[in-house]
Amino acid sequence: MERLRSSAKKKKKSVLRKVIDFFVKSEYHAYLVGGYVRDSTLGRESIDIDVVVEGDAIAAARKLNEKIKGKIVAYAEFGTASISVDNLRVDLASARTEKYKSPAHLPHVFPSTIVEDLNRRDFTINAIAMSISRENFGEIFDPFEGLADIKRKLIRILHRNSFIDDPTRIFRALRYKNRFGFKLEEDTERLMREAVKEGMVKRLSGQRILNELNLIFAEDSYGETVNDLSYYGIFAIKRNELRLMPTSNSHAFYYLLSKLPRNSLPLSKKEKEIVDDFRNIDEMMVKLNKATKKSMLYTLLSPVAEEVTEAITLIKPELQEKIKTFNALKRINPFITGKDLRKYGFKPDKQYAKILRKIFVLQIDKKLASRREAIEHLKTLRKK
Ligand code: ATP
Repeated sequence: MERLRSSAKKKKKSVLRKVIDFFVKSEYHAYLVGGYVRDSTLGRESIDIDVVVEGDAIAAARKLNEKIKGKIVAYAEFGTASISVDNLRVDLASARTEKYKSPAHLPHVFPSTIVEDLNRRDFTINAIAMSISRENFGEIFDPFEGLADIKRKLIRILHRNSFIDDPTRIFRALRYKNRFGFKLEEDTERLMREAVKEGMVKRLSGQRILNELNLIFAEDSYGETVNDLSYYGIFAIKRNELRLMPTSNSHAFYYLLSKLPRNSLPLSKKEKEIVDDFRNIDEMMVKLNKATKKSMLYTLLSPVAEEVTEAITLIKPELQEKIKTFNALKRINPFITGKDLRKYGFKPDKQYAKILRKIFVLQIDKKLASRREAIEHLKTLRKK
């Protein structure tokens, strides 16, 4: 493992060296920015290399890629390009300024210089740039004193209106705070509370909120961030409602969604089903506690999403045995399948799953001892 990590580190260093080498020898004014500068100051590994170019970043990316020979994707409408090489990503963007026409909506973008570009960023710790151009290589641009905030372990916004312009920064602030174990700077915290009070989160589209939640749950510190979402009233959830949050990112994600108002987020049909099942998880665990017979376990758990049964074992380890028994039941070959239902004249509809479940329960309880008996039983059902 250690060796793997150190080889990944070496690859990253070599990609970084090639990127720097290219820009130092070129005419471009280019800068390392954002996560990379922040993380190297913190002594942490950073996944991506972010470069801002004063000028056409896509053209620069194409020339750079002739040297590093990765896979390049350009996004003309944003003036950005990404190069994937050795499992790493180099993101190149043209320096830009943004104007917010209306709060909580995406901004208009204009070309600009590095200082203006830093000015549009979310927090001081992300608004630091290091030149990789020939004439001022290594020069640090830190107009908002981000380096000092890294030392003081503070998350600080750049402008009073920051959370109003872009309320996704409310989620981002808490994510960084908990990822690094930092604090919200006093004014930042106050302005964040004000933005929440003014209902700015509700002005975001469901998709933008969902993106932020996905980012939060991709981090080890998701539990703390979820507590903060409750503490700051970003979602109307009492802390007490979160007491049963499962200890795994993916299950906790659905658990949190189940505490939010229905239909507030654009989920797929499958995800909606999972979230609905999570809504009933407390009740389900109470029933499961009481269930003694195998057939009861099956009746209770078979309609429920697998993610929920998995989560139950995380929330209440004492129910693990019952879930194990249920999983073993699922592996038993049923006497009757959908094919039989068709053969014996049942019209394919929603009832299919119900009928199959009922017959399987009789099989589990040994009330039907063979396939022949099960078919006889099926015929009686059709007559009714
Ligand atoms: P990480 O990837 O480690 O979470 P990052 O800093 O690379 O951190 P990204 O989400 O990739 O984060 O964003 C890259 C940079 O873009 C950030 O460092 C920040 O400066 C800027 N940025 C991203 N989202 C916003 C936003 N909503 N408002 C202002 N600036 C932003």
